[in-house]
Amino acid sequence: MTRQKKQGRIMIIGAGGVARVAAHKCAQVPDVFQHIMVASRTISKCESIKDDIEKRYGRKIEVAQVDADCVPELVSLIEKFRPDIVLNLALPYQDLHIMDACLATGVDYIDTANYEPPDEAHFEYSWQWAYNERFKEKGIMAVLGSGFDPGVTNVFTAYGQKHIFDEINYLDILDCNAGAHGHPFATNFNPEINIREVTQVVRHWREGVWVETPPIIEEGCVHFTFDYPVVGPKESYLLYHEELESLVLNIKGIKRARFWMTFSDNYLNHLRVLKNVGMTRIDEVEYEGHKIVPIKFLKALLPEPSSLGVRYKGKTVIGNVMTGKKDGKIITKYIYNVCDHEEAYKETGTQAIAYTTGVPAMIGAMLVMTGVWDEPGVYNIEQLDPDQFMDALNTYGLPWQVVEHKPLPDHF
Ligand code: NDP
Repeated sequence: MTRQKKQGRIMIIGAGGVARVAAHKCAQVPDVFQHIMVASRTISKCESIKDDIEKRYGRKIEVAQVDADCVPELVSLIEKFRPDIVLNLALPYQDLHIMDACLATGVDYIDTANYEPPDEAHFEYSWQWAYNERFKEKGIMAVLGSGFDPGVTNVFTAYGQKHIFDEINYLDILDCNAGAHGHPFATNFNPEINIREVTQVVRHWREGVWVETPPIIEEGCVHFTFDYPVVGPKESYLLYHEELESLVLNIKGIKRARFWMTFSDNYLNHLRVLKNVGMTRIDEVEYEGHKIVPIKFLKALLPEPSSLGVRYKGKTVIGNVMTGKKDGKIITKYIYNVCDHEEAYKETGTQAIAYTTGVPAMIGAMLVMTGVWDEPGVYNIEQLDPDQFMDALNTYGLPWQVVEHKPLPDHF
């Protein structure tokens, strides 16, 4: 099926920290993104992004109010604005509704987080992979996970497979936020999604099976000290992260795949207490004649992630340590990016976690918009050619480096 030529029209759904960065980045590339709309539930947040973009770049973007859980509402907005691409930067709960609207209107789809049902703290790709045939038949493309992790970490792996290794056998993704936001407790992206992710049972891939270990706030959780470039040694905790699911299928020869994230003792203590008193529960409880979901109430009390930037200092260091074979020899390489919270704030008005997600979201959209990635169906990002994505990271604010490294031990 011949795909239509793109007209430079993008609709961003959501108006949180990540959407703000992506909208800024799209506005900085007017040749590719000629018409930008930010549509979300709370119109005032869309307007704030619009005003900031007009002030900084003199560009006018459009805004709209939309409930992304309502497919007919989405369809009618898409028909009105006629985007080439919908960039989903709302929450994982909306993924399937937005994919349905893209199918109904024949528009390409990109996101940064896989689907999660609201009433189950569980995420996996199966729900979105099930759209593959329908996207193919309709002649439209979906790129799943175009943030940093998932996103850049998948592309780093694909790049390693294409240019560095004959075969990658051991993959460790290490995500370090060495920044400080000055609040006693806050999460760097949506608190509900973040807390659901970090309180679950941990899994990593080993010789063809998923191995379970305790959650990061329970006894027996696995952690070790990794010496990060620029920011030094930090305690890093084994965590299950969604990119592992697709990487172990798409990267041939993987024997072990793990994901690590740094947490401070302060963060873990707060989280332990919140969990122990029931504040992280996702089911409804009765309170003074009302039904409330504790984690949603907690979200309302915590600082908005997009508001953290103003006081945030320090850096993030995120990347992959990969061990594998090249010409019969075993080699280990570390590919990583360092991002500075204050610089991210200066450029886009938000902190580095939103920045490191919003920039790759724009890059994914740019590669689809310009036809570099142009294949009907549903793809995880490591299935697509990594070269122009890697170049664009250097151009658009997330430069990376490849260095020699020692292999990481098997057990800690
Ligand atoms: P925020 O909570 O700051 O923003 C989410 C936005 O989506 C809000 O503007 C919210 O509206 C809007 N929204 C929620 N529900 C609806 C709905 N039904 N209809 C329309 N709009 C809706 O989140 P972040 O910006 O921090 O994160 C955005 C996404 O990025 C999340 O999916 C997150 O999981 C993902 N992410 C991915 C990362 C990666 O590296 N891959 C890293 C960090 C985040 P309202 O303002 O009204 O609440």
